[in-house]
Amino acid sequence: MPHGIDVPIGKIVKRHLNAIKDYCEANPTELENLMDPAYSSKIFGLGRLPFFAEVGSPVLRDENTRYWQDPVFTVNGKIVRVCSQWVVERHLVPFQQYLVSKNIATTYDPPSPAPTRRGIPSRQRMNTRYRAYRIADAQNAVIRHILSNLGEETFNEADWENTKQYFSNRCAYCGIQGSLQMDHGFPINKSKLGEHRIGNLIPSCGICNNSRKGDKDFKEFLGSDADKIRLIEEYMESRQYTPLAGNAQVKDILEMAYKDVAVLAERYVAILETLLSSAAPPTQADPP
Ligand SMILES: [Zn+2]
Repeated sequence: MPHGIDVPIGKIVKRHLNAIKDYCEANPTELENLMDPAYSSKIFGLGRLPFFAEVGSPVLRDENTRYWQDPVFTVNGKIVRVCSQWVVERHLVPFQQYLVSKNIATTYDPPSPAPTRRGIPSRQRMNTRYRAYRIADAQNAVIRHILSNLGEETFNEADWENTKQYFSNRCAYCGIQGSLQMDHGFPINKSKLGEHRIGNLIPSCGICNNSRKGDKDFKEFLGSDADKIRLIEEYMESRQYTPLAGNAQVKDILEMAYKDVAVLAERYVAILETLLSSAAPPTQADPP
């Protein structure tokens, strides 16, 4: 696991074994399935190891150490042990999807998540809670972080003071004097590809920065004001700032990062939901 998170997948599997055994007793073909290496490979990704191995079978002679000693189940007259070779990155999501598909556990709410191509349950209900944290906030924050950390340059307050002087201590957009804020000529997002570096730092009055410019780049914002656009472009050149704007490869890579943040979040929601649902109350099949 990245980040040192230890998900006890063996424990999670073990907690569901009684329910899986009950399911197999009610559905004998599933016992056959779970003793079939091809089925176990397809459903769980366990490779050549079947989920259940019958005591005395060649599988257990050859792969004894890859099956738990305990528990041993008697299911439909067959004595079986359970594969112990579970790896959280590879097997947790398929295992929980299996449980849901057989109604062995209601891991999700809603109970029938559509698997995505990445094998991770879709999470349409995410972000539908009133005032919930939006994943886009995290996605955009990661993009800003990446774009803000490109390059080796360092700068300090004196560089910012020099920048304000370059623009005669006026707002580079409307020309007003007064208190100036640090704006980014190219906004730091995945469509404008601005960076937090000298050359893209533009002095701006609060009104232009906060309420007018928004996500526009300086050219879009200034429109037909060619003189102000030229001044900003000259300033960028003077600081050897080459905008990334329009770089399709950079855009593609940032799109990947943007999606990865959502996948990461979904993955950890799924892991935690599996962990928490492992302690689920007895199902209806259990005696009262
Ligand atoms: Zn202004």
